[in-house]
Amino acid sequence: MTTTGTDVTGPLPDDWTLPRLGRVNTEWFTSGKLLVQTCNQCGTRQHPPEEICHHCGSMDLGHTELGPNGTVHSFTVAHYAVNRALADAVPYAVVLVTLDDDPSIRIIGNVLDADPGEVHIGMPVTATWVERTDENGSVQLIQWVSR
Ligand SMILES: [Zn+2]
Repeated sequence: MTTTGTDVTGPLPDDWTLPRLGRVNTEWFTSGKLLVQTCNQCGTRQHPPEEICHHCGSMDLGHTELGPNGTVHSFTVAHYAVNRALADAVPYAVVLVTLDDDPSIRIIGNVLDADPGEVHIGMPVTATWVERTDENGSVQLIQWVSR
């Protein structure tokens, strides 16, 4: 298969959709807040939200709102659009951000106000939310801006 900058075929289907909301992820994708899943039995925080606590196995889970500031822990720059929806976005940086309130929590996103070449490890960022809508409804996707 030949790939070029305009070849946008790839592993994601053309009908790629937003995350489906369910019992464990609705708060994360609709609150517009940093509501990190927290175990009500042992206090462990985890992300992304899951059915059980990865530390003690409890299914008694709640949320803790953490502050919006974080630091770029790692990143990569995508030059190839794996889906037609991303054809106009490349090149773009995908960042892994650790939260200042709890560095064990790492969240993936993009830095909206920085060119891919400006993104670097240790870059201070703050969370923002972008509303996305498809035929199934709307979600608030966490993103990052430099600070
Ligand atoms: Zn637990």
